[in-house]
Amino acid sequence: MKIAIVGTGYVGLPSGVGLASFGYDVVCVDKDETKVQMLQNGKLTLYEDGLGELFEKVTKDGKLKFTTSMKEGVQDADVVILAVGTPPHPETKEADMRYVYAAAEELAQYITGYTVIADKSTVPVGTGDMVESIIKKVNSQADFDVVSLPEFLREGYALYDFFNPDRVVVGANTKRAEDVLRKLYEPLANKTQMLFVKRKSAETIKYASNAFLAMKIHYINEMANFCEKAGADIDEVAKGMGLDKRIGNRFLNAGPGYGGSCFPKDTMAMALMAQKFGVDMTLIKRTIEGNKARKKDMAERILAMVNDIKDAKIGVLGLAFKDGTDDVRESPALEIVSHLLDKNANIVAFDYKATENARKVLGSKIEYAATPDKVFENTDVVAVLTEWSDFKKLDVADLGQKMCHKRLIDLRNLFDGDKLKQVGFIYKKIGI
Ligand code: NAD
Repeated sequence: MKIAIVGTGYVGLPSGVGLASFGYDVVCVDKDETKVQMLQNGKLTLYEDGLGELFEKVTKDGKLKFTTSMKEGVQDADVVILAVGTPPHPETKEADMRYVYAAAEELAQYITGYTVIADKSTVPVGTGDMVESIIKKVNSQADFDVVSLPEFLREGYALYDFFNPDRVVVGANTKRAEDVLRKLYEPLANKTQMLFVKRKSAETIKYASNAFLAMKIHYINEMANFCEKAGADIDEVAKGMGLDKRIGNRFLNAGPGYGGSCFPKDTMAMALMAQKFGVDMTLIKRTIEGNKARKKDMAERILAMVNDIKDAKIGVLGLAFKDGTDDVRESPALEIVSHLLDKNANIVAFDYKATENARKVLGSKIEYAATPDKVFENTDVVAVLTEWSDFKKLDVADLGQKMCHKRLIDLRNLFDGDKLKQVGFIYKKIGI
């Protein structure tokens, strides 16, 4: 099978590597020349655990190639996967569809033989119809079907999720396209459930899932606020809730609010789509507002830790939007840092993978530490903003000796507060 992937980012690249490892001939197409050049030279353009080794293997075997030429990728392809970005539109905040439509228009002219165009980008309901009509307009002779193939991978676990998906959802309106997708995912057939649904249902499943997960996070964060007032402990409460199989124990970690390239934009797009259809989705709207307000609240909690100190220096552990990734898009950590900077805070920060991406956003407004230890040197408080598990290995009791004041605010509930209090720390966490 020959596959083209249009868009070689956090979704396109791991998907390309995964599909190539099945023995398919995969060509990844991207407009970004620098990106393509790096990949052609064997350099990864993003961090994902385990991606490097498999990338090296499939490129060496000649199974995965990179190009800026749509023609090179699409001609002779059996399946063309769209994985371009759908960021929020700068004005309307709806999903910005210009990249999907531009890609559809360009690829249409190179379709040869029966081709399935599979949309992995997260797109509003009805986009499949639109892509179909764009392709027909450009190339009336083209023999093709458009299917929706929503992506559910988690950044930081992209390869694991590619090989072990909870489900593969395919929104196909023809049996012919369905058969092609069944063949494409044949190597995962005994590992996962394939769900074939109407195209519009598949498009909806993606938004419905992300909005639900975002609400789950916001729910546990509101419950954490409640626990703080009521004298309960959110970690204990979440554990007790999670043991109920109807609820499940995932996405019940209270924290500084959700972020990343998906939840913020997808909840917003879902709410706006619903509005267009005249459906009032109050839960989603409230989630968006509450999550936004939470970042400011978190910044205020950090400042409250040092409100008795003039020109306090704040150490920050974590800049990525979550552990396991270098992605800082809509990172709660960056939003919190920005709020702190608005209050003229003096900040030194460390992240295992996201420092370079954070530097592109924050420039020289903060200091970047080369090691996590440096974040404790001469600082008055350290704030934990990303849940990197390696932070747990730090000997904070010892590092506290280097601080001006031993204060730690743990917005990811990583540390054992009792132990830190025993060695003289003022320690604050979420939900207690
Ligand atoms: P990304 O920004 O990392 O990558 C998109 C790539 O598409 C970029 O490299 C860009 O240069 C390229 N591109 C844009 N227009 C192009 C064109 N016309 N031709 C060729 N290349 C083009 O985006 P991403 O995070 O990989 O997300 C892609 C889509 O997948 C989005 O719709 C997103 O919502 C969805 N999604 C993302 C994730 C995630 O965790 N990142 C998970 C599930 C779904």
